[in-house]
Amino acid sequence: MPKIVHTVMEWRALRSTHQAAGRIIGFVPTMGALHRGHASLIQAARQECDVVLASVFVNPTQFDEATDFDTYPRTLEADLALMEKAGVDTVFAPSVGEMYPNGRHYTVEEDTLSRELCGAHRPGHFTGVLTVVMKLLQIAGADRAYFGEKDWQQLQLIRGMAEAFFLETEIVGWPTVREADGLALSSRNVRLTPDERTLAPRFHAILQSAPDATTATEQLTTLGFRVDYVEDRPGRRLGAVRLGSTRLIDNVAR
Ligand code: AMP
Repeated sequence: MPKIVHTVMEWRALRSTHQAAGRIIGFVPTMGALHRGHASLIQAARQECDVVLASVFVNPTQFDEATDFDTYPRTLEADLALMEKAGVDTVFAPSVGEMYPNGRHYTVEEDTLSRELCGAHRPGHFTGVLTVVMKLLQIAGADRAYFGEKDWQQLQLIRGMAEAFFLETEIVGWPTVREADGLALSSRNVRLTPDERTLAPRFHAILQSAPDATTATEQLTTLGFRVDYVEDRPGRRLGAVRLGSTRLIDNVAR
């Protein structure tokens, strides 16, 4: 089993040993409820680095809906088994108090991209994400940190933040892992009812096949999705939809 540490001090002590030995550290931040998407990030870090650190922290400041935070799946035992198999050496699983010693007084805010796309529908979400990722990157002190392209907007914002603040960790983006029917793996997929699960792969299919974003929105709405947005950006089409109480996001190259 990987070693679990709960405090910044414990990880820093371990990190010093690794750095003194000249080891390359790879870092994979997660909110737990791990699936094959997370495993692919861990395996990438395992292949490219000497030491793999993964974090499990359900970050309260990035949830814009309290019920989403309360019902977010928490599966630490299963997560540890997956992390062991995928090759994690150390798991950082801090408490909220450990991560926010001075509450929410200090935040990282981006003023353009963070307000578009998902940001327009989830007020404050990306400030929560960037703040916690900044904290985690500072704590990890890793050579490389791995993030999924499934959260395309998040990845661009993290890359921008790393550049703006001269962070020394290399930000690595990794392709989306999907079910055989095309649905992007997500910790929230467990909330889909059987009927919603049957419909869900059409989201990815329509993002890929529709000639333009307006047509994609019309086709999705006709099928029963509530569309937050579908937008075409240079090289990418991005979308977010709701099926019942579950929000799905996805993006495809174009
Ligand atoms: P989360 O636990 O949902 O915050 O995700 C942790 C990391 O896993 C983020 O960098 C996500 O982009 C990435 N991730 C989530 N789902 C997938 C997926 N289906 N394929 C690849 N990476 C993913």
